Amino acid sequence: MTLSPEPFTDLGLDTRLVNVLNHLGLTTPTEIQDQAFPIIVSGHDLIASSKTGSGKTLAFLLPALHRLLTTKALNKRDPRALILAPTRELAKQVYEQLRTFTSGTDLNIALLLGGENFNEQIKVLRKYPQVIVATPGRLANHLTARSILLNGLELLIMDEADRMLDLGFAEQLNQINDAADHRRRQTLMFSATLEHAAVNDMANTLLKAPKRIAVGAAHTEHGDIEQRFYLCDHLDHKQALLQHILTTEPYQQAIVFTATRPDTERLANWLNAQNVSSIALSGERSQGERNKIMDSFSRGQHKVLVTTDVASRGLDLLQVSLVINFDLPKQAEEYVHRIGRTGRAGAKGVALSLVGPKDWEAFKRIEAFLQHSINFDHYAGLEAKFKGFRPKTRTQPKRSAHQAPSKSAVKSPKAAPKVVKAAKDRSDRHNHANSLGSSDGMAPPKRKKPSLQRSDEGEQDL
Ligand code: ADP
Ligand code: MG
Repeated sequence: MTLSPEPFTDLGLDTRLVNVLNHLGLTTPTEIQDQAFPIIVSGHDLIASSKTGSGKTLAFLLPALHRLLTTKALNKRDPRALILAPTRELAKQVYEQLRTFTSGTDLNIALLLGGENFNEQIKVLRKYPQVIVATPGRLANHLTARSILLNGLELLIMDEADRMLDLGFAEQLNQINDAADHRRRQTLMFSATLEHAAVNDMANTLLKAPKRIAVGAAHTEHGDIEQRFYLCDHLDHKQALLQHILTTEPYQQAIVFTATRPDTERLANWLNAQNVSSIALSGERSQGERNKIMDSFSRGQHKVLVTTDVASRGLDLLQVSLVINFDLPKQAEEYVHRIGRTGRAGAKGVALSLVGPKDWEAFKRIEAFLQHSINFDHYAGLEAKFKGFRPKTRTQPKRSAHQAPSKSAVKSPKAAPKVVKAAKDRSDRHNHANSLGSSDGMAPPKRKKPSLQRSDEGEQDL
């Protein structure tokens, strides 16, 4: 993690916030914190990206709170700042940080999550919280129920903004945008991956002449995360590798990502039977269960969390030193976020990915996104027969990645031409994104959940 050479005290931060930083032993801002602070404090809209684990939460929280603590509210009853996050777990984590930094102030705060009691939240809103952290679906529900008004909103902050769009929350974001006075509102977007077209389209609607900060590109290697890839033949082979990794590699805690929710349960049960203490988290569980699972994992009661992309974004679990992609994510960005659950705040981490025939297309997308060719590692005695599929050419008959490789399958897979592939992926996303947008000022239709995004959980937000 790159720290700026100047200490926090040089930012001119409100002393109540400096006191909390001192208490936490945080003395020096990270680069993104250093760069974002003056822009946010001076009232500009901002699109900011920097690597996973580089301190983006405080990069928006500190200047936002500084503004609220040093200026008068536009309106006494409405919330002054709203922070949106794509998953309940992430919203909760941001809220905990917010609570830490507002504990010595008069600011009244609230957390509004999908899956929790709506009427209880109405009671909380009657106390006029000034800062709210929420998942977008639930916040939109409160707008519809008129239990919240956003006319006085001064700051709208979107953490993991691109993920909220991927999960189909464009409609809710537009509703929130419409409910908050546009002229007086400052809007901030943060993520490690903000390059794709859907984000730009949304930014054009929500932000006014935004400044941009990009500390390091999303595809450049994360210096604190060692990445290794292993070829696999089939599910049993993947499980044998998983067991081998979890019983031979050194780690404090590990997160295993699967493509489907049922696999989280199945694998966690199987790992427990192999004496690897594991717990499964998926959006299928009730909110109470989700809370318990995350609490017990973060307290170290299990070595392994088996989950889907519901946990790929933002979660800051400092004991996680190993991430395993049991299945590869369909979107290359999610790879960057999943591996970013380790190697946080300057700590070192390891990310291992299992690549079977069904993962091959996703693997090629990741390779194109990272803009360098990836070599495979192997564990002695657990080598795969599968060596990857030959890149498709026009003259070749079409073959699905799900079919077994033919005899002519390449021995050592060659990377597809990178630049062309990356450009194609971007244009695909652009087309996809356009189906979300609208040119007539109407709220865009809710995107039908594509079958590829089996593991997306955000629409369970309500
Ligand atoms: P990101 O959102 O960029 O993934 P987070 O905001 O979750 O990163 O922060 C990652 C970790 O870095 C957290 O544990 C946080 O407490 C720690 N951290 C944040 N700012 C600093 C800092 N200035 N100095 C040291 N550690 C920091
Ligand atoms: Mg974050």
